[in-house]
Amino acid sequence: MSLSGWAPWLIDQTEPDAEAFTTYTRQFSVLLPAGRRRPREISEWLAWLPSRQALRACPLCIATSMPPYPYQLLWLLSLTLSCPAHGCLLEPRAKAASYFSDWERKPPTPRPVSVTALAMDSRTWQAMTTGSVDLPRRQVHAGIWFRLIRTIIDELGATLSECRTTAGRLIKCFWKEAGYPQRLGPRSWQPHEGYPLDVQLRTLEVTATAIHLLERKVLIGQGTDAALFLPDDATSGEQAGQ
Ligand SMILES: [Zn+2]
Repeated sequence: MSLSGWAPWLIDQTEPDAEAFTTYTRQFSVLLPAGRRRPREISEWLAWLPSRQALRACPLCIATSMPPYPYQLLWLLSLTLSCPAHGCLLEPRAKAASYFSDWERKPPTPRPVSVTALAMDSRTWQAMTTGSVDLPRRQVHAGIWFRLIRTIIDELGATLSECRTTAGRLIKCFWKEAGYPQRLGPRSWQPHEGYPLDVQLRTLEVTATAIHLLERKVLIGQGTDAALFLPDDATSGEQAGQ
């Protein structure tokens, strides 16, 4: 498995392109109204690929397999929190993804993942393995799923100038419902992939909560494609994504 093998589903292309970020993250809008976030040119950006090495692995996948250990692309990307097969969080690692003698001597204790994060990660696993994802109203192509969650991540990290007034209050509500009364993080904006691992994981956690809240109509997204997350019995007629 390599990242290049996942173009154009997971990433648009493997060659650096300053327009890639805007193309990937502005096609859809979920939490914020369409057009609210400004275009950004970022050189060397690839969706989901952390700019600093952020290795993680599933302790139960390692404990229940024999060397050579499975190499999971998802463990290396800023895309999931957990292993859907075992329902536990991925654990950070300092060593290479294929070298686990430290865990053989002293395996980490698996930590359970939240229901909301497991639901999001299970859909991502479904996208990687089947090429499509079941949303409340319809099935979407894997490429749409990856761009939808990357869009929500970007909206949750929108700058104050991009989400004033009602939209800004809505974004704060999603963070608060996920257990973060203050939207924490570095002062200067970066793409998700550029933040430290703890910030990336926290944002993924809030993204999973946001999807959970949208699907139960606890909070309503203002974006064109928010209707994709409404329950199937909701009033039809909203504009769904492509
Ligand atoms: Zn596992």
